[in-house]
Amino acid sequence: MGTVRQVTIARRTGFCYGVREAIDKAKEAAAAGKTTHTLGQVVHNEGVITELQAQGIRTVEALDDVQEGAAVVIRAHGVRPEVMERAEERGLEVIDGTCTWVIQEQRELVRLVEEGYTIVLLGTPRHPEVVGLLGFAPEAIVVDEEEDWERIPRRKKMALISQSTQPPWKFEKLAALMVGRSHELKIVNTVCPVTIRRQEDTLEAARDVDLMVVVGGRNSANTKELTRLCGIAGTPAVQIESPADLDDAGVFDGVAVVGVTGGTSTPIEDLQHVAERILALAGTPEAAASARELARAALAVAATPAGRTTSLPSPGRVTFVHAAGERTA
Ligand code: SF4
Repeated sequence: MGTVRQVTIARRTGFCYGVREAIDKAKEAAAAGKTTHTLGQVVHNEGVITELQAQGIRTVEALDDVQEGAAVVIRAHGVRPEVMERAEERGLEVIDGTCTWVIQEQRELVRLVEEGYTIVLLGTPRHPEVVGLLGFAPEAIVVDEEEDWERIPRRKKMALISQSTQPPWKFEKLAALMVGRSHELKIVNTVCPVTIRRQEDTLEAARDVDLMVVVGGRNSANTKELTRLCGIAGTPAVQIESPADLDDAGVFDGVAVVGVTGGTSTPIEDLQHVAERILALAGTPEAAASARELARAALAVAATPAGRTTSLPSPGRVTFVHAAGERTA
């Protein structure tokens, strides 16, 4: 018999505004009757990709695969400037879904290059956002884990900048190290506020539960960081990609209250489905019997406009409407 009597969902989860807006732009283009392609997956979530495909939106991996006359949506991570130029040369309609925060990062990099700084970029080397950023500062030194940091040279004039989803503690630690490597150090803190809030809310949720379930891509850096933070809060955590990954009720043995959180590319509906799955799989008889209602209620308490999957209506999906007009940026 299961022991879980309650599942809570962390506040301010769901897609970040950058991902949400890129998805909205793709849907708007398709709804306007345009042949619409996205350059790379707008979000690494099969459910969302399938839904976009159902609306006629196709993912392509290269500009050469974009049909003549089609609209191409640039995802929130942004692209190298030459990709934009090439799209224009081909006469494609470019719908720029680059997140406004990433655009700021790109502008900062251009400025740092002009000012002659040796730039260190904290980020995951092959992550699309980092690949795009390097188009604005090709000589930037990309470092990720601490064992990489020894590669950072000593220079008179250095600058530090970050990929948006890097953990703030890592950025601060690297900044401290770089103080000793340069005469002049310019620090441009581009860790995205959504990332910071997501981490704060996950920590808050983790403090009140027996176990956390973190939902997000296996390789997503911001998801892994949420799992790590749960450990720091002293709460055990399991990381999954989807409700289907929860097939062992033994994980919840003796657990009464479970918290659920998700990365910035995880739709908020997935968190509700995960909550429902936990209750159905490992809930007390009463909780299991009302798994759907309890999961809906958990999401209704947690959800904010920042957690909406998309602002556009989409048949067959749950839509949440909230009174407050808060927006994270
Ligand atoms: S994490 Fe932040 S910077 Fe990155 S796409 Fe989302 S809102 Fe934009």
